[in-house]
Amino acid sequence: MKLILLGPPGAGKGTQAHYLMDRYNIPQLSTGDMLRAAVNAGSAVDKEVKTIMESGNLVPDKLMIKLISTRLNEPDCENGFILDGFPRTEEQAHALDAMLLERKIILDGVVSLTVDKEAVIKRIVGRYSCSACGMGYHDTLKTPKVPGICDGCGNESFTRRKDDNADTITARLNAYFEKTAPIIPYYKKSGKFIEVDGMQKIMDVHNAIIKVLEINTKH
Ligand code: AMP
Repeated sequence: MKLILLGPPGAGKGTQAHYLMDRYNIPQLSTGDMLRAAVNAGSAVDKEVKTIMESGNLVPDKLMIKLISTRLNEPDCENGFILDGFPRTEEQAHALDAMLLERKIILDGVVSLTVDKEAVIKRIVGRYSCSACGMGYHDTLKTPKVPGICDGCGNESFTRRKDDNADTITARLNAYFEKTAPIIPYYKKSGKFIEVDGMQKIMDVHNAIIKVLEINTKH
């Protein structure tokens, strides 16, 4: 299964990616996670990237394209992948097309999660995740079944993203509506586009995604 997940920050891309990963046994290629890991490791990604991310703006296309191109060559992508957070601009979308063509990969679906702006802000401000497996939680909307213990892996430590704050959200939403939303018509024309109401309950969103995917991939 080869998928792209689209949607504004807080739409639930990461949450849905986790369920899809388990279902199809494929990796989640989250460019945000990759950048955060690189920044934390103090590796090739420099201070400028950290500053851009903390301000809620987009990291330059060239770097992002290289990051994904390298990642797609790894063996765990052979059976499929979920692109979460890439592409985010027209340039990235075109570069992705070229990468897929070169590797003879055909996408099974481009899933776009739609959400209300107000709800997204509420979701982002209270969210945190398991520092071991990355499972997402929220202070009020989705707490672990046993307080302080991750439902997914039993780990007891959690982390909050630095850019999940009220000040940065506006910039992140603007980046989405100005730079990412314009690629939606491009994917709509591909015949692989699946729009799902991201305001539904988590499992309802998941079921809506797999229902369409499984119909589409039967043919
Ligand atoms: P995310 O975890 O997907 O919300 O990404 C966090 C931040 O990483 C974004 O606000 C951007 O600064 C940066 N980022 C992640 N993916 C991309 C991308 N494909 N293009 C540009 N910047 C990105």
